Amino acid sequence: MRKESKDFLFQLLTTPSPTGYEQPIQKVVKSYAKGFADSMEGDLHGNLIIGVNPKAKRRIMLAGHCDQIGFMVTHIANEGYVYVSALGGIDTGVLPGSHVTIHAKKGPIHGVFGRKPIHLQTEEERGKAKIDIDKSWIDIGAKNKKEAEKLVQIGDCATFKLGVTELRNNLVCSPGLDDKVGLFVAVEAARLCSEANVNVGVFAASTVQEEVGLRGARTAAYAIDPEVGIAIDVTFATDNPGTENPKAAPCKLGAGPAIVRGPNANPEVAELLMSAAKKHKIPHQLAPSPKLLGNDANAIQVSRAGVAAGSIGIPNRYMHTQVEVCDLVDLENSAKLLAHFARSITAKTDFRLA
Ligand SMILES: [Zn+2]
Repeated sequence: MRKESKDFLFQLLTTPSPTGYEQPIQKVVKSYAKGFADSMEGDLHGNLIIGVNPKAKRRIMLAGHCDQIGFMVTHIANEGYVYVSALGGIDTGVLPGSHVTIHAKKGPIHGVFGRKPIHLQTEEERGKAKIDIDKSWIDIGAKNKKEAEKLVQIGDCATFKLGVTELRNNLVCSPGLDDKVGLFVAVEAARLCSEANVNVGVFAASTVQEEVGLRGARTAAYAIDPEVGIAIDVTFATDNPGTENPKAAPCKLGAGPAIVRGPNANPEVAELLMSAAKKHKIPHQLAPSPKLLGNDANAIQVSRAGVAAGSIGIPNRYMHTQVEVCDLVDLENSAKLLAHFARSITAKTDFRLA
């Protein structure tokens, strides 16, 4: 991966963006995209839309959500411990013993989710698999409530401690790969389209509030009014213990973007993605989805009078934990695929189904 691109990705991953508090990450996107964007627009909801060839008649939207799951401070106890609620679908099983950062007004406050020592746990507590977030606490080291309240305010957001760990074979591990990798791919695809002088208008949307109901995609799609809208999001890898299913389509890290087929994807869009992948020898996999998707494609498809939707999934292990894992090569291939897709649209291409 190009150095500038990798730096951009790592910057996204180390910038907090808990749902509803995405402004810092939009700044990162803005400063990277200004190098190639023909237009850039923010909206009242928080979305950032980067346009390449924006005046073209045919418009394609590439959506990657910039928000990440996190926590919200709901209570500060007399002893100075901080209690939180989940912001999005946190996997509470991984809370005890994890590092967190509260993104407070005066700067980041470090803390840890505490845990009663194993020695002191009752028989019942030891056997208990379910962790209750309401009974979990963050220890920031404050002596008491008064000290904690000087640093942390009710309603502040927190995330798992951010940071990227590089594993072997181009794998990276970080909280919030969901969906900063999708955002990265959307922006990189737009950059490639700008270098290739595409005929269509390409709009990379850094959408907000996906994790609480695909909300940013709804407002962004309305504004862009695209003919085609593709969501780029993480998808469940099936190559780690416990996820294998011999009868389901496999999804492997490093095997390329997973092209979605199903009612949430316009068949022409899926077909064009598959043929672009084949033509340019981009490794890819198929993701059959008989149900509607739980990502931005769901909202985009029914925007205004309907959009030719599609989605590509970036294989991801350990989703919604602080140790999500993706393959950098999948990201590069996804961006390439989307750029080739955009370039393959000709005057004859017709996405209408009836
Ligand atoms: Zn996501």
